[in-house]
Formats: sequence, structure tokens, C-alpha cells
Amino acid sequence: MRALRRLLWGLGVLALVVGAFWLWVVWPPWEAKSPQATDPGPTFQAPVNAESPPPLVAAPALCVGSEAGPPGAAAANAASLSTLAWSPFGKPETGWEIYAPRIAAEIGTSCAPGSDGFAAALARWQQTNKLARTGVVDAAVFAVMLPRWHLARPFVRVNRDGICPGAPAEASLATARSDESYGGKTIQLRPAALEAYREMAAEARAAGVLRRPEALRIYSGFRAPDADAQRCARDRNCQGLIRTICSAHRTGLAMDLFIDAAPGFGPDSSADANRLVMARSPLYRWMVSNAGRFGFVNYVYEPWHWEWTGEAMLPGAPIASLPQDGAEPVTEPLEGSTPRTPAAASGARGRR
Ligand SMILES: [Zn+2]
Repeated sequence: MRALRRLLWGLGVLALVVGAFWLWVVWPPWEAKSPQATDPGPTFQAPVNAESPPPLVAAPALCVGSEAGPPGAAAANAASLSTLAWSPFGKPETGWEIYAPRIAAEIGTSCAPGSDGFAAALARWQQTNKLARTGVVDAAVFAVMLPRWHLARPFVRVNRDGICPGAPAEASLATARSDESYGGKTIQLRPAALEAYREMAAEARAAGVLRRPEALRIYSGFRAPDADAQRCARDRNCQGLIRTICSAHRTGLAMDLFIDAAPGFGPDSSADANRLVMARSPLYRWMVSNAGRFGFVNYVYEPWHWEWTGEAMLPGAPIASLPQDGAEPVTEPLEGSTPRTPAAASGARGRR
């Protein structure tokens, strides 16, 4: 009886050992169940209609720092992110999420806009910039940041002095490859700017932020001043938020890049809904954090417009000496219209 019990106990232990070994050998590792591990696929081939990531109020992966912000600030930011009624560029807008990636970069945080870490970083920034230490994004905060962002663009600094930079000779420009241009357009840029673009695009691709086949393709590069002036005169829309008689595209250093687009919108539509989709894209957030390493600066109103700063502007001419047709909304006919005073020399306005 005792021998039988010993035998049964021994068999039980053996069964447990064999069973555990079998499980260890044949159980699939958790990683193998993940589609990313079995089928990584080139990031360029991701579906065109990939969903936009959720708003930034969801905590991002890398929010460092445990400092608390001013009481109530995080909640106030979380609410105003999509509700703030203001006119940061002279036209009414609702919410500030379009500018959230840039604001986060300015205050040096990777924390989500509605988080305590973000409010704490903003409060620190406010203190440094002699503003009330509220930790809350408002028009006063933006009014300090915006001129700084504008003036980070050499083109704007030259404009501020009343000068429109010169255009390079077209024969000196390099042409983008067909897989770099959008919609089959011929894109020309100064050679070093195109080279910098290529280096940046390669790194963006490696970082996995090119979620659409069109991502980072160039849809506007160099634009000849004469052609721009003719369009200004024809369309009468060249002195506003996004058009000017002195466009940065004349330098051969500015490029409009496909960042993302909301359904039904083009990649350069400045509709707020469209710009919001861009601001939420991993690509734009990557650009805000990384494009500077390649010498690029952005016009914050247009997530798609980037200027390369690696070479100096060419000597230009006073903006007042440029053709002014189309520089203001007009009611009189084109012919016989009196020369208009240039509005473009007014300093820290943005435009492309
Ligand atoms: Zn542009």
C-alpha cells in the first residue's frame, strides 16, 4: 500500500514536470501574437485611410517629470484645448490644439496638453517670460510665442526690414524625383535644400511616421516671382494670412510638404479642421521635434510650409518696389489703379 502511494506520487511529480516542460517549449510567446512582430511591413505601405491618432489629451508615451502644475491648470487646459474662443491670426478660431505640438516644444515638455506635467512646464515658461504663472494656455502666452516663431524664420527677418529676398536662377535649381513630388508636379529647389529634405525624409521614414503613401511629398517648391506676381494680379488675394506679394517660395528654400489631410480637403487647405488633422498626425509632431536638426523651420499657421535655413537669402529688393497688384482686396478695376502702399513690410506677420 505504501509502495503504491509512493509510486502514484512519483508519477504525479513526473507528469507535472513533463507538462511544464511541454508548455515552456510549445507555448507561443506573446510577442508572436502581435501583428507587428510577424508582419512589420514597410511603413510607407500603411493604409491611406489610417485613422488619425486621438487628441493629445490622451497621455503620450514620454511624459517625463512629476512636478505638479498650478491648481486647476491641467483641467483648464484640457477644456480649453478644444473650446478656447480666440483669434490668434486675426480670424476667429476655436481651441488651440492645432498649435499644441509647437507650444509643447516651446515649453520643453512631451506631456499632453491636459496633463499636470504640461501645466507645470508652461508655468515655468511663463515665469521665465515674466507672465503670470497660471500654467494655462491663453492669448497672452501665444502673443509671446508667435513673434518668436515668426522670427525664427530668416525669411521673415528679412521681410521685417522691408526687403524681399532675391530669387535664384532657375538653371541653378535641382529637381525633385517623381517619388518625392506630389501629384506629378515638377518641384524645383536649391540643391542643398533638396539634399537636406532627403536626409530628413529618410529619418522620418525610419522613425515610422510616414503613415500615408503621400507623406512628406513636396507639392510646392520654388515659385518664380513673375508667375507669382501674375497670379496675385489675377486672383487679387496676395496680402493676407497665407498669400503675399513676397512669397518665401521665391527663395528656392521653402517647400510645402504633404503632412496629412482631412477627408475632402487638400494638403494645403487652411481650414481649421484640416490643420487639426495635420497637428494630430505623428508626422507633424515628429517634424516639430526633429526638423530643426536638418535646418528646417515651420510657419506655424501652415503645418505644411517649411523653410530650409542652411543657406543665406539672396540679396533682394524693397518690398515697396514689387508689383503691388493683388496685394489688397480691391473694388476698382485693375487698369488705372493707383499704386498701393506695401503692407508686407509690417514685421512679424507670418505668411508663406
Ligand atoms: Zn508654402
